[in-house]
Amino acid sequence: MHSDSGSPLLIDAEQMRALGYQVIDRLVERFATLPQLPVWRAGDRGHLETLLRRPAPEQGAPFAELAELLFEQVLPHGARIDHPRFMAFVPSAPAWPAVLGDLIASGCDVFQGTWLASSGASTVELVVLDWFREWLGLPHGAGGLLVSGGSIANLTAIAAARHARFGGPDPRAVLYLSRETHSSVLRAARVLGFADDRVRTIATDAADRIIVDALRAQLDDDVARGLVPLLLVANGGTTSTGAVDPLTELAALCRERALWLHVDAAYGGFAALTDRGRTLLRGIEHADSVTLDPHKWLYQPFEAGCVLLREPKLLRETFHVLPAYLQDTALAAAVPEQDMAAPINFAERGIQLTRAARALKIWLSVGYYGVAPFRAAIDRCLDLAARAAGYVQQSRELELMRPAALGIVCFRRKVAGDDVAADAANAALTARLAASGAAFISSTRIDGRFAQRLCILNYRTAWSDVESVLRFFEESALP
Ligand SMILES: *Cc1c(COP(=O)(O)O)cnc(C)c1O
Repeated sequence: MHSDSGSPLLIDAEQMRALGYQVIDRLVERFATLPQLPVWRAGDRGHLETLLRRPAPEQGAPFAELAELLFEQVLPHGARIDHPRFMAFVPSAPAWPAVLGDLIASGCDVFQGTWLASSGASTVELVVLDWFREWLGLPHGAGGLLVSGGSIANLTAIAAARHARFGGPDPRAVLYLSRETHSSVLRAARVLGFADDRVRTIATDAADRIIVDALRAQLDDDVARGLVPLLLVANGGTTSTGAVDPLTELAALCRERALWLHVDAAYGGFAALTDRGRTLLRGIEHADSVTLDPHKWLYQPFEAGCVLLREPKLLRETFHVLPAYLQDTALAAAVPEQDMAAPINFAERGIQLTRAARALKIWLSVGYYGVAPFRAAIDRCLDLAARAAGYVQQSRELELMRPAALGIVCFRRKVAGDDVAADAANAALTARLAASGAAFISSTRIDGRFAQRLCILNYRTAWSDVESVLRFFEESALP
C-alpha cells in the first residue's frame, strides 16, 4: 500500500491516481444518479455508532473499503442537500467545476492568508470579489474577503462598522434589525458583546419588510436617550419568506442619520445577476457592507461566504495585528490598499489567519461556464417559484401565505377547524414527506401560523419536482 522509500506517508504516483480515480468515479456516479436517490434518510445514533465507533486503527485498511463504507453506509444518512427535490432551508447545489476547484485548492495546499504565501490565488480572490462588487452595483474600490459563510460575513461587517465608529466596544452603540433578520446576526451581536437592550427589533409590514417610519421613530428615541445608532441590518432576501427590505428608502434614512447600512444578502444576493433580482434588490448598491453566500445561489460547495465593504480599508484597520513570527509577511505600507499594485494580506482583513483558497472554485466555475448559465439557472428558479405560487392559488386545497419572493414560496394545506388543528396537520405532512425520502421541504411561521416553505435554488430542480411536492400537500390524506 505504501511506498517503499522515504516517509511512510508517501504514496507512489500510480497509486495516487488509482485512489483519486476511485473517488472521482464515485462522485460522478452520485451526480448522475442523484434524482433517483432518496432525498433524506434519518440517522439513528445507536446504529451509526455501532457502525463507526472504533479506536483509531494502528494499521491501515484498504482505501476502497473505507471509501465504500463512507459512500454506501455513512454519508447516505442525512439529507442530500443538492438533490433536485431537496427544497428545505436554503439548499446548495454545487456545480461540478466548483467541486473540482475545491479539490485543486486542497491538492495545491494553498494558504491564502498572506501575499507571500499565495500572491497568485490572492489575486484570483481580488478578481472574484470585484465581480461580485460589479454584480451588485457597488462602487469601484469596494471590496472585502471570502469567509466561511454568511454568519462570519455578518460578524465581520458589524465588527468593522463598530471599529470605524468607536475604535472598539462601546456601551452606547445600538444595532437595528427586524424580526426576520437571520439568527447569525443575533449571534454576532452576542459575540461582539452587544447587550440585549442594544439590539432593536424594528417592526415589519404585511410583506415582512422593515417599516421605515418605525425605524426612524426608534432612532429618535435612542438618540434622545443618549445612545448612538451604529448599524442597520437590512435583508436582501429574508431566509424565512424571501422578503427584501425597502433598501433605497432605508439607505436614504441611514445616510441622513449616519447609520451604517449592512445588507444581509446571503440568501438573495446573487439574484442580482438577473433582471428581476436586480429590480428587487435595487438600493443594495448604497450599502456600506453586504453579505453574500456563494455556497447558496452561486452553486459553490461549502464553504463560501463573502463580505464586501464600501471602504475595505476599514477591515484592515479592524483586524490587523502583526506578531513577530509573521514579520516576514509584512507589506510595504507605502502603497495604499486600494491601489491596483498593492499586495493584500487577506488575513489582515478578517478573523482567520489560515484561509482556504475559496476563490479558486468560484473563479474556475464562473470561468468555465461564463456568467450567462448562472444567470439562466437563477432565472429558472425564479420562474419555478412563481409557477408554484400560481399553482397554489389555483388549488382548492392549498392556501398561499405570501407571494413568491426570490426562490421562496410559503403555503399550507387548508384544514377544517382552528389554526391549532391546521398547524398540527401541516406539521405532520411536512414530516411525512421527509420520511418518505421522495422530497424534503421545511416549514416556517408567518404571523404565528405554520407555513410550508419551498426554497427553490437548485439548478437541477424541474417543474415536475416542484409539482410532485405541491401534489403531495394537495392530495395526502390528513392525519
Ligand atoms: C444562510 C444565511 C445566513 C448564514 O449564512 P451561513 O453561510 O449559514 O453562515 C445569514 N443570513 C441569511 C439571510 C441567510 O440566508
